[in-house]
Amino acid sequence: MPEEVPPIQEPHSMRPFVIETARSNRSKCKVCRRAIQKGTLRFGVLIVGPFGPGYLWHHMTCGARRRLDEVEQAYAASAWENGLDVPSIDSLRALVEESAEKKARRKEPPYAEIAPTGRSKCKRCGTLIAEGTWRVVLSRSVEFYGQTRSGPINLHPGCVAAELCAPDCATLASGFAAALGQNSADLEPGRIEEVLRQIGDLPAV
Ligand SMILES: [Zn+2]
Ligand SMILES: [Zn+2]
Repeated sequence: MPEEVPPIQEPHSMRPFVIETARSNRSKCKVCRRAIQKGTLRFGVLIVGPFGPGYLWHHMTCGARRRLDEVEQAYAASAWENGLDVPSIDSLRALVEESAEKKARRKEPPYAEIAPTGRSKCKRCGTLIAEGTWRVVLSRSVEFYGQTRSGPINLHPGCVAAELCAPDCATLASGFAAALGQNSADLEPGRIEEVLRQIGDLPAV
């Protein structure tokens, strides 16, 4: 149920989208789940719940990151009160692209993910990693024309411990669990525990 239903008499209250300044600290962002501070911009998407129509609120920037199409529609319809100082749609688009790039760059091994296809092979045992199962990405160093580089390799969780002992493994066994959790920040904490259980005992360091 939406936290706040604007009064019916407001002329713009039942637009499909609305951009406005939060009137209290009580609304929560549907993306990051944090409170939207009074006086800051929020983006509302109209939904009809069991208690009638109301808005799902988002921080302006969270809304742009998660629902850019709808934010674009709100901008096309100028879904805000005259005189409200809203960021330009171009600045929001730039922000969305930037955060997508950052997300890609943030993927530093070691991290865990669900294999999106069944085509990747485990670099330790040489067999395929099944679609929809855990895949752990570590870093392995490769000698290339006298230069040492490191690149990401895919592993079954059960093959991780052996790889960490390999001489060419470029991922530290020391602090491994913490690093895995940190680099897999897009996963919920409980899921990290699940991968760590599948990885099993780590080599003593
Ligand atoms: Zn937010
Ligand atoms: Zn394997």
